[in-house]
Amino acid sequence: MAEWEPVIGLEIHAELATKSKVFCPCPVVWNAPPNTVTCPVCLGFPGVLPVLNEKAVDYTLKVALALNCHIHRQTLFERKNYYYPDLPKGYQISQKRLPLGYDGWLDMEVNGAVKRVRIADVHLEEDTGKSVHGEEAGDPTASLIDYNRSGVPLCEIITYPDMNSLEELETFMTDLRQLLLYLGVSEARMERGQLRFEASVSLRPKGSQQLGTRVEIKNLNSFRAVLGAVEAEIRRQTDILRKGGKVQQQTMLWNEAKKVTEPMRTKETAHDYRYFPEPDLVPVVVDEAWLHRLRAEMPELPRQRRERFVREYALEGQEARWLTATPVTADYFETAVKVCGDPKAIANWMMGDLQGLLNEAGKGWDECPIAPEHLGELVALMREGTISIRIAKEVLKEMFGTGKSARQIVAEKGLEQISDEEALRRIVEEIVAANPKAVQEFLGGNEKVLGFFVGQVMRATKGKANPQLTNQLVREVLTRCAIQQGA
Ligand code: ZN
Ligand code: MN
Repeated sequence: MAEWEPVIGLEIHAELATKSKVFCPCPVVWNAPPNTVTCPVCLGFPGVLPVLNEKAVDYTLKVALALNCHIHRQTLFERKNYYYPDLPKGYQISQKRLPLGYDGWLDMEVNGAVKRVRIADVHLEEDTGKSVHGEEAGDPTASLIDYNRSGVPLCEIITYPDMNSLEELETFMTDLRQLLLYLGVSEARMERGQLRFEASVSLRPKGSQQLGTRVEIKNLNSFRAVLGAVEAEIRRQTDILRKGGKVQQQTMLWNEAKKVTEPMRTKETAHDYRYFPEPDLVPVVVDEAWLHRLRAEMPELPRQRRERFVREYALEGQEARWLTATPVTADYFETAVKVCGDPKAIANWMMGDLQGLLNEAGKGWDECPIAPEHLGELVALMREGTISIRIAKEVLKEMFGTGKSARQIVAEKGLEQISDEEALRRIVEEIVAANPKAVQEFLGGNEKVLGFFVGQVMRATKGKANPQLTNQLVREVLTRCAIQQGA
């Protein structure tokens, strides 16, 4: 039995985070009441003229540059003709022959090795309106259309079919989304439909270089949907091929509830969209000065930042990967470290307790109620011995709930650590005197009893006793008992 290898390609539509739409001055806003953010241009009235948003071109070019693409210096817009109710003009303004970017690549790390996915095309186009059907429209028999999304700029990215496993597919999507966030060109929120995918899947005998018949899966709006659909499609095609059958070229939809792909339309041949140059827009010339400005504006990209974190902060690769997952977490980390100078501690707090609090509250890092400077201050307070780790955990919770600074909470609640040796020694002596049985156990050689005494001291001081000093004093006082008893 032949072993089959999947061959996977992706088309990604990313909504660009410009202030206004791509061919009209309407603002780009999310969740506005239906049809309130429209004008004659994005409603497709006859006789109106599109005016190109330069920022949308900037953003698309940045994506192309970050994906190592060649840039078409003279590019143009074309009309992609088809009819659909959410496309009132009867055509979408897009790019076909001369996309802004072409022939690039993205290198990603999978299982410790570098895998290159080639990028065929990066272009700019306009989004369509949104159809709302049935129950969602408040009437099972109705279809409604919201044109707020019509004319929102989209960057379309098309890969070559270079991915050969679900793992590679997931890594590519994660890395690409991360890149968009770092470039600041898209919010890439999948729950808002700002990142949408189409996948192509075919199988071939392992080792073969020939491509099998491919199936396209449309309308995938989350990583989970892409991975579920591609996995199901690989399974479906494997079954067919094992039985000696032939895979039919077709377009499928993902049925999330049944976990299967279902045909959308068969007899799929290449669409004839009758592309032709958009006569209402002049060709765009991307000159050297423009590219120079964009290159100067390019931020540090995820991979560079990750490598710098390992170098500069002596972090493990895994920690650096976690911290640089988004520019928000990476900025947070660097700001906090500046305050306390302890990268390891900040990493631990972020990945541990603080992430836990965010999860509990259902919040993302961009909504974190603790300012990074305040987390830095908390770690500084521990480092200078003002509070113990146990108190720090309590203070963190309080900071999360109130937004107050660590120093303010410690002062208000009198949480400073007790490091006064005489005061602590008195407390230890009292506790030792009150627990003769435990003292006997220690004298009998049970070292574990030390922990019991330390716990009692912490209890008596409400956790404020300096832990190192407490440990040392407990041992000292107990050892003295032993000497006195001649043990
Ligand atoms: Zn408009
Ligand atoms: Mn498209």
